[in-house]
Parts: sequence; structure tokens; C-alpha cells
Amino acid sequence: MKINAISRLIPFAVIAALVSCAPNDGARLVRTMEEFDQAVAALQPGDQIVLANGVWTDVEFRLKGEGLPDQPIELKAEEPGKVIISGQSNLGISGEHIVVSGLVFKDGFTPTSEVISFRTSADELANHTRVTNTVIDNFSNPERHVSDIWVSIYGKNNRFDHNSLLNKGNSGVTLAVRLNTEDSLDNDHVIEYNYFGPRQILGSNGGETLRIGTSHYSREFSNTLVQYNYFDRTNGEHEIVSNKACGNVYRGNVFFESQGTLTMRHGHTTLVENNYFLGNRKPNTGGIRVINEYQTVRYNYLYGLTGHRFRGALVIMNGVPDSPPNRYNQVVDSVMDGNIVVDSDYIQLCAGSDEERSAVPIGSSMRDNIIMSRTNLDPFTVYDDISGISFEGNVLNEEASVPISTGFSKELYSVLENDNGLRVPAQSLIDRISFGEVRLPVTRKETGASFYPKSDDATEFESGDTIGVEPGVDTVVQALRSSGPGDTLVLKNGGEYLMTRYAYIDHPVTIKTGDGERAVVRSEKSSFFIIENGGALELENLWMDGAASPDLAGNNVVSTSRYSMNRNYSLSVRNSRITNLDVNRNFDFLKVYMSTFADSIEILDTEMSNITGSVLSLDKETDDLGIYNVENVSIQGSRFTDIQGAVASIYRGGTDESTFGPIVVIKGNEFTNTGLGAQNKSGASLKFHGVQNLRISDSNWSNSAPLELFLTNGEPITLIENLVMTNTGKIRANNDEFTIGNVVYQ
Ligand code: CA
Repeated sequence: MKINAISRLIPFAVIAALVSCAPNDGARLVRTMEEFDQAVAALQPGDQIVLANGVWTDVEFRLKGEGLPDQPIELKAEEPGKVIISGQSNLGISGEHIVVSGLVFKDGFTPTSEVISFRTSADELANHTRVTNTVIDNFSNPERHVSDIWVSIYGKNNRFDHNSLLNKGNSGVTLAVRLNTEDSLDNDHVIEYNYFGPRQILGSNGGETLRIGTSHYSREFSNTLVQYNYFDRTNGEHEIVSNKACGNVYRGNVFFESQGTLTMRHGHTTLVENNYFLGNRKPNTGGIRVINEYQTVRYNYLYGLTGHRFRGALVIMNGVPDSPPNRYNQVVDSVMDGNIVVDSDYIQLCAGSDEERSAVPIGSSMRDNIIMSRTNLDPFTVYDDISGISFEGNVLNEEASVPISTGFSKELYSVLENDNGLRVPAQSLIDRISFGEVRLPVTRKETGASFYPKSDDATEFESGDTIGVEPGVDTVVQALRSSGPGDTLVLKNGGEYLMTRYAYIDHPVTIKTGDGERAVVRSEKSSFFIIENGGALELENLWMDGAASPDLAGNNVVSTSRYSMNRNYSLSVRNSRITNLDVNRNFDFLKVYMSTFADSIEILDTEMSNITGSVLSLDKETDDLGIYNVENVSIQGSRFTDIQGAVASIYRGGTDESTFGPIVVIKGNEFTNTGLGAQNKSGASLKFHGVQNLRISDSNWSNSAPLELFLTNGEPITLIENLVMTNTGKIRANNDEFTIGNVVYQ
């Protein structure tokens, strides 16, 4: 009777703690950092520290312990997934034979440069230590370009397995193996069964998902094994994996719809085998890029990869003669054998050949590869002398052209889906190269923390509720406040809407009028809409008019947050009308700030007239570090009349080669009296600096400032055709390395 009464008064967790603190059992439940530190100070081999369920905020765990091979020290969650580490927090581990499991890092970021570190100081490293069943989800510094590393593995013989690392928004490698001291070389780490979840486009170098080594230590051996991991849309930059040390093995990993490549950037004697790259024809999806010596690439399966140049399905680079460690080592004695490449576009040999990168591959081979694709019938690009690569037993489909006459045979295009759901060539060909069964070596489900969902934050436009909005004052603002991600606000045909306060967009939302007469929206504030971190905006069949805007310079219709945004946004304007942005000077349609990044900005079938500022001014990253403001821009089927500033100004400066964008399409537009205002410093109607893929076609300019191009590094693709320029200056460009046809000046 008495015992029952006591047990009712004592919470279950305390009883569990009392039970687990029995003398023969070294488990200790801790609820505070003080208790944690006391427990760490007393650690003996075989002890367990159990973190109580709940949210731990602003905690920096320093776990130092000396376990034994058969009596490891454990740090674990009371229940896996129920210990949430948030705020400004991190975990450092040092010692021997330690196992960490069940933790979730979210809703915060690290105050140092690492979230989980396999060391507690420069010379206190972790060895024989395992981190498993742990999650880091969007634990991103709010400053987009402040760099940190989520997991840094130092020491030797460590294992990182069954963890989920997803939604990194700021700069810096997701998982790094560090070789910065003798005690971390030749480390035999194992990285396996992890889920590398979606990583958004960073818009800069520094978005690698996995890096082993650095250029400084790249001629040392790491001997890290990376196997059976799932890379799901890891799109940070063009190096998904940046290998920068010797002796690493990448085996049985899956790269699902990921932009970029597994890059052997530095280091020798790498083995890349039985990895599966599923591009599914998504843009910029790549395969394997070979640089350096004694590299082996064999029995990999590559499907639906569209990436070109350095991001092709298979790429062998040129090197720099006597290269310093941070440039490009010549490819020597390397093999690329027995790979299956299906419905992929580019195989690049001697890629990057230029005055500096003049050392062609030597002593290398491409044998027994099956390459079947009808998407590009000329899949090989040869940039330099390929006599140092021997070709033998390779198969192409009969329609495709071969790079050289020997070493290739042609077969019927015989690609069909196999029993494992993968597109494969005829079995007789697969048997001929002894590939074995074509089957994913690991599934998404088999990777990552067992308790954590594998989803990203992305919400499609118009995927949520539909909310009717009555005409009137601030009805749009009120509707936005009660809306959720993916919702659609539907305005009344011909209705008049006035906003007397900012309309903050903090999740994806659509504002539109249904079919028929557009509603008109005006604002008394300096911005109509402000896209906050996590927001995205679609405007459809609307009329936005500047007549009610304040008589101040620098108004705009849409603005980004003025602070750093670590989530990418998008903006879509369709079938709309924008008028009278002229109450004062520099009234822009869109204003963006530094440290913001759009995945996509599109203006389709829209009329804009009478604007004293610019339409799309995406030129705020002027430090020439390869950072830029937008990945994809599309302006199509639209008319721009009386625009004093530039219709578009897009800037990507510097010589960095790590990114894909900006990618710009300008098609089917009319530009009348654009770009001639005294405030338009560039003096251009449209200006593109460092755009990597630019297509301008089927458009007319009249009485406008000229189109201006500045082509920089990265072999940008620039196509210009079918333009009529009436009373408009000639196209200005810094060189003539672009394709131009049918441009009429009159
Ligand atoms: Ca990089």
C-alpha cells in the first residue's frame, strides 16, 4: 500500500533511473549538463550515460572516456529520437571505444565550426569510436555564408553509421574526414548506411556533402571506407563527394537525383566500385570524375545523367604539369572499366584541357564499358590527346558515334527495365563484362536513423488549401497570416485590394485571381510582399499597381528578407500585369539582398510598364567569390515597356568552378524603351555577368539600351538567336565566345 503510493508520486523516468543505477550496471540517467559533466568525470569502461528525454537547449557536450574493446563507454538517448538537442549546441568526443546513439540535433546551430566532432581539442581525438542512429536536421547557421561542418571525424578506426544528415542550409561540408595531424592519417574509418538527405543548392563553393582530406594532406593515406550510403538529392554544389586523400574506397553507394559528381579531386589509389547513380534525367546530375594516379572506377551503374563538362557521367580530367597539391594532378595509371552507362549524355575525356591543364592522361584504360543512350548520340567529348588511354571492349548503341575507331563495338540499343526496376542493356552484354546482377546495393529505407522520417522541407505551390479572399483593406495580409505551406489565396475577379502593412511570406504560398478579370493589388508600404526565410511566392493572374505606394525612393513589389536567408526561395509571376511603379525613383519589381538565394525566378506571360527602377536586379554578391543570387531565371512571353532600369541584371563574379548556375532563359519577349534611365548604372537593358548557361531567343528590342554580356570562366554556354533590335545599340560583350544567329538591327 505504501509502496504503491510512493510509486504514484515518482515519475516513471526517475524509477527507470533508480533501476538503471543499480551498482552492477554502469548506466546513469542525466537531466542537466552538471549531471552530464559529473558522469563524464567518473566514467569507467562499460559505463553508460543516458540523456533524459526532452529538449536540451544550448548545450555543448564534451564526452571524454576510455572504454575497452569489450567494455565500450556509451552515450545514448533515453529513447532513440526523443532527445532533441537544440539552440547553440554541439558534441565533442575523445578517448577510446565510445558509442554515441539516438540523438537528434535540430532547431539550432553550432556556435563552433562543428556539430559533432571526433575530438575535444586539437590533440584529444577519438579512436575506435562509433556514432550511430543519430540525426542532424537543418541545424544550419542562420548566416548562409558562415561555414561549419556538421560532422568532423578525426582520429582512427572510427565508425559513422545509420545516421541521417539532412537539409543543411549554410555553407560548409556536411561530413568531413579530417587528416590534419599524424594521429588522423591512415585511419581506416568506416562510413556506412547513412542517409544523406536533401541538400539545397548553395550557390557557391562549400556545399560538398562528403569530403575526405584537404588539398594540404592529399598525398597522405586516409584509407577510409565509404559504403552503402544513400545520397538523396544532395545538390549543394558540383562535388557531392570531394575525395582529397589517398587509399579511400567508395563501394555500393546510391546517388539519387543528386547534382554533381563523386570527384577524385586529390589523392591517389582510390577505388570506386558498384556505386549506383540514378539521375532520372534531372538537370546537372553527374557521375564520376577522375583526377590523379592509380584510380580505379569499375562496375558502377549510371542512369539518366544529364550533367555536362566536369559533371558528366564519366569524366577523365587533364592535369597540370608538376601540379602543386591544390591544383590538378595528371591522371596516371588509372582504369575505368566495366561500367554501365544508360540514357546519360556526356562522357568527357581530357576535360578541363587549357593552357594550365595541359598534362593529358597516361597509362590509363577504358575497357568493357557499356554505354547506351539515345539522348545524346555523340556522348564522348575529347578535349585533348587521348593516346594515353587504351580503349578495349567498349560497347555503344549502333546510332551513337565513337571517339576513336578501335576499342568500341556497336550493338542494338537494348535497354529495358529489369526485375529490380532499373533500366539495363541486354543481359548478354551485362554477362560479357561480368557485371553481375544490376540491383541497388542499398535502399533508402536501409539507411539512416531508424526512427527519423526521410523527408525534406520542400512544399509545392498549390498543394495545400484554397482560401477565398474578399476585396478590401489588408484582407490579403490577414489571409496570409492564417495560411499554411502550399495554400492558395484566391482573389475576386476585378476586386480591389489595398495593403497598409507588409505582406510577409514565410512559407510557400500562391496568390491569384481565378480565370477572368484580374484583381488589382496596391500597397501603402515600401514593399508589397517580403519573402522571409522559408518563404516562396507564386503570383498568378494579378494586377499589381504602384499608385498607392509611398512617395519614397527605393520601393519594390517583392523583396527578400534584408537578413541572411539559409533556405532557398522561389518566385513565380505568371499571366500578370505590373503598372505604375513610378511614384518616385528606383521603384523595383524585385529587390534582393546579399546572402539570399533563389532556386528559381520566373516571369511568364506578364506585362510590366512604367517602372522607375529595375525588374530583376540579381547582382548583390559583388565580392567575386563565385557567390551569386539565383540558380534559374526564366523570362518568357512577356512585355516590358518604359522600364528605366534593367529588366534583368544577373551577376556571378570570380573564377570558382564549383557551381552550375546561374542558368537563364529569355524567350519570346518585347522590350520597349527599357534600360535608358539615368539611374541605370550599367546602361544595359539586360546584363549577364558570369551566367553559366544563357539562352536568349525570339525577342524584340526597340528604343532600348543594349544587351550586355560578360562571359567568364567555366566554358559558359551562351546561345543568342532570332532577335530584332530596333533603334537599339549593338550587343556588347567582353569576348566572342558565344553562339549568335539571326540578330537584325534596324
Ligand atoms: Ca567544392
